[in-house]
Amino acid sequence: MILSQFQSIGRDLSTKGLVSSNSGNLSIRLGEHMIITRRGSRLGYLEEHDLIETGISKNDRNTPLASVELAVHRAIYQETTAQAIVHAHPPHAIALSLTETEIVLGDTEGQSILDRAPVLGWHMDVRPGGLADIIGQALKQSRIIMVHGHGSFAIGQLLEEACNCTTTLEGSCRIICILKSLQASSDKR
Ligand SMILES: [Zn+2]
Repeated sequence: MILSQFQSIGRDLSTKGLVSSNSGNLSIRLGEHMIITRRGSRLGYLEEHDLIETGISKNDRNTPLASVELAVHRAIYQETTAQAIVHAHPPHAIALSLTETEIVLGDTEGQSILDRAPVLGWHMDVRPGGLADIIGQALKQSRIIMVHGHGSFAIGQLLEEACNCTTTLEGSCRIICILKSLQASSDKR
């Protein structure tokens, strides 16, 4: 049951190009524990051994097997009421994260679900698992955030909800990018 949820969300993100090869990670909260994808796992091809159960606050023998973004997932569960987290690399949202400090969705179709996504980590050296506390704090106010030049972290009650948030943001960012390039080419005329 849990495996099939992870598999269907992993496949969905992979098919839509929101994660590539072994990037991206997923988790769900289970009381004081979480189930998180294995370090280096490929989200499009998850199997039982790719799901790692470990503590939200405490380390155990499974901890070293968890995703490199474990520290961020832990901080999010400690700071928010999220039950599920999706970390992806949506290309148009990443492009905008390199130029914006906040992505405002405005008149795009994502507006009814999301109106903005803050971009965190400007002028910081961001490594996997970095910015954990800052991301946890920001997700108290927003359902999704972008890490500058890296990727998104989205939360929900279910993996599906966090995944929808990610695809909605990417869909809107794609439109914003197209609009920006149309404006840039009409400015040249
Ligand atoms: Zn990443």
